[in-house]
Amino acid sequence: MALGGFHSIAYVLKKARQAGGLRALLQAMRSSNACKTCGLGMGGQRGGMVDEKGSYPEFCKKSVQAMVADMQGAITPAFFEKYTIAQLSGMSSRELESCGRLATPIIAGPLDLNYKPISWDDALQKVSNTIKHTDPDRSFYYFSGRSSNEAGFLLQLAARLRGTNNINNCSYYCHQASGVGLTSVTGSGTATVVLDDLKRCDLIFLIGCNPASNHPRLLKSLIEIRRRGGKVIVINPMLEKGLCNFKVPSDWRSLLFGSKISDLYVQPNIGGDMHLFLGIIKCLAEHDGIDNSFVQDHVDGFDAVLEQANGTTWETIVSRCGVDKSVIENVATTYMQSSNTIFCWAMGITHVRGGVDTVRMIANTAIARGMLGKKGAGLLPLRGHSNVQGMGTVGVVPSLKGAMASAIEKELGVTLPTTKGFDTMAGMEAAHRGEVDFVLCLGGNLLGSNPDTRFSMNAMSKIGLVSYMSTTLNQGHLLGRGSETIIFPVLARDEEQQVTTQESMFNFVRRSSGGKARHEGPRSEVDIIVNLAKEAVGIIDWEQFKNFDSIRELISRCVKGFNKNEEHQIEGRTFHTPVFATDNGKAKAHSVSLPKQQQVSNNKLRLMTIRSEGQFNTVVYEEEDIYRGQTRRDIVMMNEDDIASLRLRKNETVTVRGATGELKVLVRCVSITKGNCAMYYPEVNQILSHNVDPESFTPSFKGEIVEIIRRVNT
Ligand code: SF4
Repeated sequence: MALGGFHSIAYVLKKARQAGGLRALLQAMRSSNACKTCGLGMGGQRGGMVDEKGSYPEFCKKSVQAMVADMQGAITPAFFEKYTIAQLSGMSSRELESCGRLATPIIAGPLDLNYKPISWDDALQKVSNTIKHTDPDRSFYYFSGRSSNEAGFLLQLAARLRGTNNINNCSYYCHQASGVGLTSVTGSGTATVVLDDLKRCDLIFLIGCNPASNHPRLLKSLIEIRRRGGKVIVINPMLEKGLCNFKVPSDWRSLLFGSKISDLYVQPNIGGDMHLFLGIIKCLAEHDGIDNSFVQDHVDGFDAVLEQANGTTWETIVSRCGVDKSVIENVATTYMQSSNTIFCWAMGITHVRGGVDTVRMIANTAIARGMLGKKGAGLLPLRGHSNVQGMGTVGVVPSLKGAMASAIEKELGVTLPTTKGFDTMAGMEAAHRGEVDFVLCLGGNLLGSNPDTRFSMNAMSKIGLVSYMSTTLNQGHLLGRGSETIIFPVLARDEEQQVTTQESMFNFVRRSSGGKARHEGPRSEVDIIVNLAKEAVGIIDWEQFKNFDSIRELISRCVKGFNKNEEHQIEGRTFHTPVFATDNGKAKAHSVSLPKQQQVSNNKLRLMTIRSEGQFNTVVYEEEDIYRGQTRRDIVMMNEDDIASLRLRKNETVTVRGATGELKVLVRCVSITKGNCAMYYPEVNQILSHNVDPESFTPSFKGEIVEIIRRVNT
């Protein structure tokens, strides 16, 4: 049965009622602002629901969910009198999100049972005093991709001028492996293609991703590729129904009859992708499928890749990836028949230990057939939040080096710190050691996004002051509190009084016009940052940045390719000719360190954390996951054979024991490769270790071994 379609339309109508009617929702969705949700990017100056090529209407349930959340009524001070922190802590992510918009700054001290309102002046003074009197290296700044380039740039600048490089964004827990891997191949850490390339390709690989749930509008491109005779290969340990058949509401043919999405669906082991792609390269080499002239003229290091492919036995490849040789050969044959291939991936790749090397191996596979450096072909990491890529572009990284650092120093006549700075987990570990006194979060849910929840709560509780800039409540505000916690309510991007900018995963920078504030109370993030920096940092004239044009002016002088005046494609990142941003212009292929076989046996399975259709990052909008036919989130999804061999029954309660805890959940049977299982994030964070990949510093949200323990007499 095809998913999406009329059900999605009915859902949008239901959400419209919550938002005050269809007209009000449409007006908000059509306003000239970038979509608030995923990194695919819609909206901007061509109007809401318009993509980079001008196609309309382009929107999805996810974009509606985020918009409706911002259109909620305001939380009143009486709410915080009524509900204690303990009571709010017991609410689910969905319940907290539905409480309404934050409209008043609130504070909770160490002995407080409730959050209490605090005036803007007092809240700003408390936070700026803390910044001023805290050893800069005992502070930590965390940014989410919800915020604008302007706010991100300004806050990282303020933190550096205060003397710390403890600055990072939420991508450490999503696509950091893509950035590190791609930079080592092309010299640029982002997609090598633009939206238009999807219209030219004849084969697309979807690897470790589920765009039906997480980047819904991409489905339309996939349908178009198949309609013009192209193919879609999905590689995912779990069979996602939305990647088999889908009904795209904005396409009448698809809406009425449904559309097939995948031509070939390959289900490897979690973390088996590196061997799978090595197997594809081995097949190409064995069947004269390597584009030798491309490799010779435009690539360094490919000989070592071929040597690795030839030197690895089929037995090893098949046992590690869990995919039969005949299936790998089928994938390789389909790939050899393609003239233009695009490789897309997401967190099924970046969340595993060895994620950076897996990205390199995907790039090696593209290089092998010359699918890099030409139109209609290349590499496309599917980014999560709508401006997570922009955050990296405008310097929200720990140590700022190279041209951008020099430009800031020259433009402002300042010296930036040279310390290494914390990545996200390094910050949490330092806090756990009692070495962090102050944390400022520009959006996001730092606590909720972390694995090993007990460790993370402990870490946050040792911090003197934790301050958040947020639009709605989340569990981080309750379980991720410091001795003192202050929450500033902020405007959504479509409520800003000035233009802000956001960057899509295609390196396209959109301008959001903003609009009327829905509530009295919330302030612009930039305004808050300027006030804090003026008091706590000084050194430069911060007041000038209340005019957002002046921030963009400075960004454009410090960030290569950033245009302060109009929407634009950032230059130097899209490779339509085989000249790359490396020292000698050639792409770099990499032989990699192949992972050892993870032992799964008896009741030990590999776990992957997944998000549901009604969820965006840590925000759960709906408990049910209609695309997977699940109505609750406290479940473990297992292969039928594993259920049978453990003598379990479907819907039986089991204990899942991970490295740091246990969860009591129901067994659900899904099509997932034997030896693997799946559970919902962020709830499952409670049992994961906080070990990170040594190159990307991303925790292993996928690939940890868990034990399934049968409960006796339940
Ligand atoms: S696919 Fe992403 S960018 Fe496009 S409308 Fe949906 S959430 Fe917004």
